[in-house]
Amino acid sequence: MSVNLTVVGCSPAWPNPGGAQSGYLLDGPGRLLLDCGPGVLAKLREQEPWPTVDAIAITHWHLDHWGDLVPWVWGGTLGPGAMVPQPELWVPPEGRELLSSIGGRLGRPDMFEVAFELHEYVDGEPFEAAGFEITPHRVLHYDLLAFGFRASANAAVIGYSGDSGPSDGLPRIARDADLFVCEATLLQTNPEGGTRGHLSSDEAVEAFEASGAKRLLITHRPFERPLDSSLEQASDGMRIEV
Ligand SMILES: [Zn+2]
Repeated sequence: MSVNLTVVGCSPAWPNPGGAQSGYLLDGPGRLLLDCGPGVLAKLREQEPWPTVDAIAITHWHLDHWGDLVPWVWGGTLGPGAMVPQPELWVPPEGRELLSSIGGRLGRPDMFEVAFELHEYVDGEPFEAAGFEITPHRVLHYDLLAFGFRASANAAVIGYSGDSGPSDGLPRIARDADLFVCEATLLQTNPEGGTRGHLSSDEAVEAFEASGAKRLLITHRPFERPLDSSLEQASDGMRIEV
């Protein structure tokens, strides 16, 4: 028994050439998509006419982590997705209100609730989706409410940082995990000034070592900032058995 991770998209806030933004598909007891940034839906549609996922969980509201939920609504209600069972959609606290407000400006206030079975998660409280136990932990991403996820099923544990600066949440997410998918957006460790929102690769390695996780996969890395070749880096389409 294992879980298979497919990196659907791993681009940072701006897309890498030909890339999709954040999306990580876990195949285990069910199919769980962590984040759904622009380009993710098109990549998933290369594999099947419309993605059959049981649940989608969103770390935070920066567009590179959720933007493709909008076309997912249209395809899921008016297009080929109407033939596929609705996925659950797990969002940060107060996400229902936020989606209703955005929906009111893009189409209709209930557009996301029509297309998805909507749930809000709570910081530090595990929830079940797609057969996984998922615990959201708050991370440091400027002044935004942002989370990383610890997901476990089939005796495998995967930590996903979402977007985070140095944060106590990271070792909680990845503690003794089989795989830690951790962002490293920054070229240098130098503080950006003000509230932190991202990690350098050195800081990602530090967080990984502090966590006791077994394997580190660096993600959310700009193409223009190549990594030291000793580090394992995510690429779109990469598959890992965990
Ligand atoms: Zn991001």
